[in-house]
Amino acid sequence: MSAPDVQNNPLLNQGELPDFTKITAEHVVPAVREALRLGKENLARLEQVTDPTWNNFVLPLREISRRIDRVWGAVNHLMGVKNSDALRSAHETVQPEMVEFQLQISQSRALYNGWQKLQAKADTELTTPARARIVAAALRDAKLAGVALEGDAQKRFNEIQRDLASLSTRFSNAVLDATKAFQLLLKTADEVAGLPESWRAIAAQTAAANGHTDANTNSGPWLVTLDFPSYHPFLQHAQNRALREQVYRATATRAGGRGAGGVQPASATDGKTGHSSEKWNNWPLIDEILKLRREEAQILGYKNFAEVSLAGKMAPDVAKIREMLVNLAKVARPQAKAEIAALATFAKEQGLNDELQLWDVAFYSERRREALYNYTDEELRPYFPLPKVLDGMFALAEKLFAVKIRKSTENVPLWHNDVQFFDVLADGNKIASFYLDPYARSGEKRGGAWMDVCRQRESTAQQTILPVAYLVCNGTPPVLNQVEGPRPSLMTFSEVETLFHEFGHGLQHMLTRVDEYEASGISNVEWDAVELPSQFMENWVFERSVIDQISGHYQTGELLPQALFEKIVAAKNYMAGSQMLRQLYFSLIDIELHEKYDGSQQVVDIQKAIAADYTVIAQLPDDAFLCSFTHIFAGGYAAGYYSYKWAEVLSADAFAAFEEAGLANEKALHELGRRYRDTVLALGGSRHPLEIYREFRGRDATIDALLRHNGMKPAA
Ligand SMILES: [Zn+2]
Repeated sequence: MSAPDVQNNPLLNQGELPDFTKITAEHVVPAVREALRLGKENLARLEQVTDPTWNNFVLPLREISRRIDRVWGAVNHLMGVKNSDALRSAHETVQPEMVEFQLQISQSRALYNGWQKLQAKADTELTTPARARIVAAALRDAKLAGVALEGDAQKRFNEIQRDLASLSTRFSNAVLDATKAFQLLLKTADEVAGLPESWRAIAAQTAAANGHTDANTNSGPWLVTLDFPSYHPFLQHAQNRALREQVYRATATRAGGRGAGGVQPASATDGKTGHSSEKWNNWPLIDEILKLRREEAQILGYKNFAEVSLAGKMAPDVAKIREMLVNLAKVARPQAKAEIAALATFAKEQGLNDELQLWDVAFYSERRREALYNYTDEELRPYFPLPKVLDGMFALAEKLFAVKIRKSTENVPLWHNDVQFFDVLADGNKIASFYLDPYARSGEKRGGAWMDVCRQRESTAQQTILPVAYLVCNGTPPVLNQVEGPRPSLMTFSEVETLFHEFGHGLQHMLTRVDEYEASGISNVEWDAVELPSQFMENWVFERSVIDQISGHYQTGELLPQALFEKIVAAKNYMAGSQMLRQLYFSLIDIELHEKYDGSQQVVDIQKAIAADYTVIAQLPDDAFLCSFTHIFAGGYAAGYYSYKWAEVLSADAFAAFEEAGLANEKALHELGRRYRDTVLALGGSRHPLEIYREFRGRDATIDALLRHNGMKPAA
């Protein structure tokens, strides 16, 4: 590497903020390699420290992390917002080196020993709760990575890790292959009756890509696949019931082989004709994965894998999770039954001369939704111009959290002209900043919305670094219409909700008061608590007073009409019992399998037993949803799927505090908002989230508010 590569590399020399006008793909490889070289050099030095203190051990380790976070963070950010072939290939080149270095740190026995020595000096070195928790987390993570193991235990642990990695890959490959193997070609108008134009356009494109070069939107042929954007709308809209059944059966049995426990699939077994081929059978993989995870847990000194998962989470134990799931189900179950009964009646009125079957639910749900709440996303857009929504959202943050949000007057280098840069002020002082990249850009920007970290807060005797966030959305850009005049970016209601969600993450990152890099903002926050601040913010868009702040027709300034607002609120709770019961089913089965399964039972029997209580219409005899449940068998959600509900309970309960104070009571809102800011938003990962929550709420969260917000009454 030549010296200028490093000296003039804007990724390495970032200063206060990355200079996005200068960073290009060719800077990536030399910058990452230089950061890694320095990192390895410093790590080697750190591993020699015999008498670790906060200053000679944690701070130098932080230097390593910060340098790498900055370089790699900027690269990943550009991958999301300014992607290109050159950038992708540079990223691909150095990613394995990055992963290897991160592994080296997380598996360093010398660092583990250092953390242990430091903890032994807690009295003099770990003088704040944040420091104590940072060290405890480092020790916990090292133990969970097997660093503390010796001899045969270590050897077996490593074997299990390797086997689990390959089983996960095989599991997800089988799901992918079984998905690919199913193709249902539709050729007649009858077969696509009911399907929207947008779906037919994509289905014709898919057919064309699969050899039917003559395919077009209007005359077909159209190809249905088991990819979600294809089969889900198909089940919602296809009037042809026999085809719905065929597609439903294919999704429900995907990668389930011949059916577990010797149950034969009910229809043909050829992938091309409707049933996932028996070639892909994930049942034996599930058995192996669960047994290995259990063995791994026991090597680490836990009873089962559920305990391993919970070691780093907010939920204290399995009992507490089960209590939440069971109590929610007590209310959701009768509600779901009533919803399905109402749906069956509706289907009969619509001419269904049969019992409502599994493949009818999505279809009639959509018809009934249209009948009850006939509005479209497009109708709402004109009331939500982005600038108006932003002003209203910032005004809400100012009222609740006593902060001011202002467009920055500084000349900050941006990656695109549409990007805006804001400062957050408290008591007249700048405490944080954020970029907002609001519009979709096809070809270079990833879809969806997210919050990411640009700068992490830290404060030492020498310096204070303020937090900076990236807020990224994918809205419609403004248009310059010659006839009507310019039209601002207009948002759908769900885009507004998503913006509030990401802003909530951003607030936790930016309003932190923690001085330690390792625990400020969203760092070191247990991941079943991470969605609390984001989902909390979503609640506000269902409040009329907030709608009055964020809505205003882009031509007339008219607020969102009350009738439309009421429909939005009612539609939010449509089929809420059924949806909740389904999530509870997934959560419970995940917990049960990781707590109890030891190979002496059949996985499918456990699935059936729980399904009997947690589904309203009986599953197919060969239902194999577990065989494509990649979240828990090939993703990071093992014994963690409950987190979704856990965070919803927290955020609903937190919002209920504001409802109880009275949303029209300015003084109460201000006080409570301050308390929320001083606890949930300010303390981040510096204290245990249960403790922080109690400090905000004066008690633990209950499930009542979540039920109420979903239109259900808590059990007496
Ligand atoms: Zn989120």
